[in-house]
Amino acid sequence: MNLLDFYRQYPDESSCEEALRRFRERHDLFCSRCGGLRLSWNPSHRSWTCMDCKHEMTLRSGTVMQGSNLPIRDWFAAMYLLTATRRAISSKEIQRQLGRKRYQPVWEMVHKLRDVMGKRDARYNLHGDVEIDEGFFSTETPEAQKNCPLKRGRGSQRKTSVLVMAESSFPDTPSDKKRSTPKIVGHIKMEVIDDLKASTETPRIKQATDGKANATTDGSSTYASLEKDGAVASHKAVVMDDKKKVGKVLPWVHIAISNAKRSILDTYHDIKAEFLQLYLNEFCYKFNRRYFGFRLFERLELCACTYRAEFKHRIY
Ligand SMILES: [Zn+2]
Repeated sequence: MNLLDFYRQYPDESSCEEALRRFRERHDLFCSRCGGLRLSWNPSHRSWTCMDCKHEMTLRSGTVMQGSNLPIRDWFAAMYLLTATRRAISSKEIQRQLGRKRYQPVWEMVHKLRDVMGKRDARYNLHGDVEIDEGFFSTETPEAQKNCPLKRGRGSQRKTSVLVMAESSFPDTPSDKKRSTPKIVGHIKMEVIDDLKASTETPRIKQATDGKANATTDGSSTYASLEKDGAVASHKAVVMDDKKKVGKVLPWVHIAISNAKRSILDTYHDIKAEFLQLYLNEFCYKFNRRYFGFRLFERLELCACTYRAEFKHRIY
């Protein structure tokens, strides 16, 4: 994977500006002040003027690129690289491919893109049969806890808990292909959680499924009152006496968790717990659009033009 094809299509900054302008005009551009739809492009200012309220809107305003000093071409190239591969791609690798000297702005840009990926996916609910479980991801020990004795297992300071939900159902016509599970997977969600309490997980499950899913979980007490609390339409809890059963009852949450771990661990040695959600956003965004192929770049462009990132983090 390299940027040559991309650079042929977008040879310089002005070609990217032009592409961004056309892209935004094709996708419901509206005035950020009055919501008006009649905007006229002013080539000398490189901005639109609202015909209703005279507000002037720059190319980047209202997008994830607003306030960034990086060229639009770098943003496009980063989106291209992020969507060109199923695996996780690090800011370091993107920096290297862009040929940028400074790491910090590239690092921020890529995290902002992961942030808006999460915003996009948060708009979708999971439907039908949904598997629910927790995953535990290895993360760096927080600075404040570095001198404390290390706890082991799921409560360890080196593990961050993640609520994982996956649409998973039996197909109408069974496949002849030999697969690890007869179930097929739809969309997935992964959310970092502070603890495994019912009061933490139940509202998130309700939000993710609009309270209408048919949930399957293990026998954990966390899920005992999901149905009673109106978080799901129905709930099947399966007590798992041996580990092999997990793969049968909750196949897709566990395939998703192990794929996410492999993808993230192959790319990073150590990640800080505070950034885990952003890496999971990237994983889920790509997983949920695994059949999009080359159209994924345009989808991410749309996402980048629709949302502004809340991600603000400075090392310096
Ligand atoms: Zn206006």
